[in-house]
Amino acid sequence: MSDLAELRRKAAGCTACELYADATQTVFGSGPPGASMLLAGEQPGDREDIAGEPFVGPAGRVLDRALEQAGVARTDVYVTNVVKHFRFRREGREGKVRIHRTPGVEHVRACLPWLHAELAAVGPQLLVTLGATAAKALLGSSFRLTQHRGEVLAYAELPLVATIHPSAVLRGPKDRQAEMFDDLMADLQLAGRTVSGLSGAG
Ligand code: SF4
Repeated sequence: MSDLAELRRKAAGCTACELYADATQTVFGSGPPGASMLLAGEQPGDREDIAGEPFVGPAGRVLDRALEQAGVARTDVYVTNVVKHFRFRREGREGKVRIHRTPGVEHVRACLPWLHAELAAVGPQLLVTLGATAAKALLGSSFRLTQHRGEVLAYAELPLVATIHPSAVLRGPKDRQAEMFDDLMADLQLAGRTVSGLSGAG
């Protein structure tokens, strides 16, 4: 099962955890097979749940800007999430406002086979995790993003750079947002330099 289109089709019917029941649809990864980098975030947000595509909402725009400023071509990147259904709670009048809830370890565990399948199908040279949930999913629950952000680590013999989630930039205190964006951009630059180094060495 290595073809991305086939994987996407199969994931659309996934019921391996409870999250499929309330979400609109599976939000599978997006990008070309053979992309040099695979970026994995936590889970789709409200916009992504409706659109069925990852990183198309406000956080996606921050990511696009950071990739551009880091000199990483968006067309050479595959973006996905470690959990592929939106987890939320309802608030507001008639419960119309959907508020993000962090996925539990049981959801991450249930969904991880899809990420492994995407890794096999895309064959990236490097992984980037966006946010603590994605980093812990791959590097273990004791991983601390604050201690290891911006380092080149490893997962399944692939280099891995763990950075913050672009939504953290949007949620951060106003006086820290520029600094947080620069951190994200610098980590993506490091990822790009690492891929270039690997390509040069190959
Ligand atoms: S979150 Fe993942 S494991 Fe759970 S139903 Fe959706 S695709 Fe399947």
